[in-house]
Amino acid sequence: MPTDETAATPNAAPTTPKDFIRDLIDEDNRTGRFGGRVHTRFPPEPNGYLHIGHAKSINLNYGIARDYGGKFNLRFDDTNPTKEEQEYVDAIIEDVRWLGADWEDRLFFASDYFDQLHEWAVQLIRAGKAYVCDLSADEIREYRGTLTEPGRESPYRNRSVEENLDLFERMRRGEFPDGSRTLRAKIDMASGNLNMRDPVLYRILRATHHRTGDKWCIYPMYDWAHGQSDSIEGITHSICTLEFEAHRPLYDWCLDALGVYHPQQIEFARLNLTYTLMSKRKLIDLVKRGYVRGWDDPRMPTICGLRRRGYTPEAIRDFCNRIGVAKANSTVDYGLLEACAREDLNKRARRVMVVLKPLKVVIENWPAGKVEWVDAENNPEDPGAGARKMPFSGELYIEQDDYREDPPKGWFRLGPGREVRLKHGYYITCREAIKDAAGNVIELRCVYDPESASGVTPDGRKVQGTLHWVSAAHAVDAEVRLYEQLFSKPDPEDVPPGQDYTANLNPNSLTVLAGCKAEPSLADLSPDPQYTDGIHRFQFMRQGYFCLDPDSTPDRLVFNRTVTLKDTWAKVEKGTKKG
Ligand code: ATP
Ligand code: MG
Repeated sequence: MPTDETAATPNAAPTTPKDFIRDLIDEDNRTGRFGGRVHTRFPPEPNGYLHIGHAKSINLNYGIARDYGGKFNLRFDDTNPTKEEQEYVDAIIEDVRWLGADWEDRLFFASDYFDQLHEWAVQLIRAGKAYVCDLSADEIREYRGTLTEPGRESPYRNRSVEENLDLFERMRRGEFPDGSRTLRAKIDMASGNLNMRDPVLYRILRATHHRTGDKWCIYPMYDWAHGQSDSIEGITHSICTLEFEAHRPLYDWCLDALGVYHPQQIEFARLNLTYTLMSKRKLIDLVKRGYVRGWDDPRMPTICGLRRRGYTPEAIRDFCNRIGVAKANSTVDYGLLEACAREDLNKRARRVMVVLKPLKVVIENWPAGKVEWVDAENNPEDPGAGARKMPFSGELYIEQDDYREDPPKGWFRLGPGREVRLKHGYYITCREAIKDAAGNVIELRCVYDPESASGVTPDGRKVQGTLHWVSAAHAVDAEVRLYEQLFSKPDPEDVPPGQDYTANLNPNSLTVLAGCKAEPSLADLSPDPQYTDGIHRFQFMRQGYFCLDPDSTPDRLVFNRTVTLKDTWAKVEKGTKKG
């Protein structure tokens, strides 16, 4: 599978596979349609946080600009002040940057073009191609007709140019109440395409805009703002999702009516993922109703949620490249996203030891007070990753699950009289289990073999189980958060009549383990230089891939499990597999 290692280094050779959009661009370059220029943009509306679907669009738009030596703009489609906020603008900028897309100095806002868009609206009125309409929103809908019935013309459709200019100017000056009038394009009420039935271009709306304040009380609609913004910026290929296919004739009509530079709109299928909702409205709902801890809750499909979960930008770009770009809608298996995370983290994540449910082990024949610093390799997949020293002592923690009083057949971990290897340490044999009044095992008494430090003994004795552990006196307290899918059905919207998607919320999506013990090397809260975002990422041996959560303090670390290991350890170290 091709991976996208080049996104952070724009000049490296492109590795992205071809798709139908790149084929169209090749054709445009062959015919010289845009003079060989390639200029794309990502146009988010700042009315929520970005999600993994947006990553697909960013990867596509930025990847094309990079691969063709072209340009990429970040442009906010901020034409609806009632739903838009600066908080979203800031979060989107952070997320696009984190994903590795580079807009250089081309950060734009549709609101930067409000004057030009207004001027062009006046030009359209002068040309007899737009009129002020006094119908209400409901009436406009009613007049529009349906897919099978033509629309009816508005009674205000044939106002004179002078009257339209006057009314539009008075709309702008704030003489009319919100919603009382609109500016509409004069196209064709009998068109088979509902978008062409005199669409609204401007509405009256008294709302303070996060950038233009109270300067405007009329705001352009998406269809009036988008294509013209593309034109102003010299975009060549305006790539959007399939639901805008039926808007393309209007996109083209507006640009032709104005006689301005005309980019090409191209539509592709949006990303859908199993177990995942991507509608911004529902993501806002999840946050506002408190079903998750916030936009960056690690169960959220938002970019900041995936980041907090431990996903790397490299893994997300790899995912976007693997799913490819098509013209037909489909749903991608969430497992593919996880596989991309595993593949990247397997190569890069340091192997460390954290005990999630500690059980004390006392080594009776260990010299009192002795601490031995054993060598622990950081990553067998990456010899350059080096090694660290881990303290081994006479009091350790292992996992409660790694001891069974009455082991089943094929059990290679600890039990009465059983011997195991402690990773990077010694062989130990269990002599006795100490129990509390309720009969729970609270401590194991073991002996170690001083000759087993290298993992082999002089008598050639083999043990089949290898356990992870930490030294009790040196361990750092940790909280570990384990996640499952936020929804228990592949299609979260698949609910009985009368219920909403919340009926499918998975009650087990978050498990918090509070009393975990981490090896001391993890108590480093400074940025990790190994990752572009400085987030520490690890493989906890036998437990999966984890990252350090920002809730961490020096004496209480917090980790999120990014993804499980998928049993690879079990294949290598046979017998230590869980259960
Ligand atoms: P809304 O839920 O408000 O319709 P949106 O997800 O369409 O929001 P925008 O901010 O308008 O959000 O999206 C910015 C860009 O991202 C658009 O070009 C849009 O087509 C693209 N995009 C949005 N969702 C997806 C998705 N699931 N897959 C691929 N591209 C997407
Ligand atoms: Mg949208």
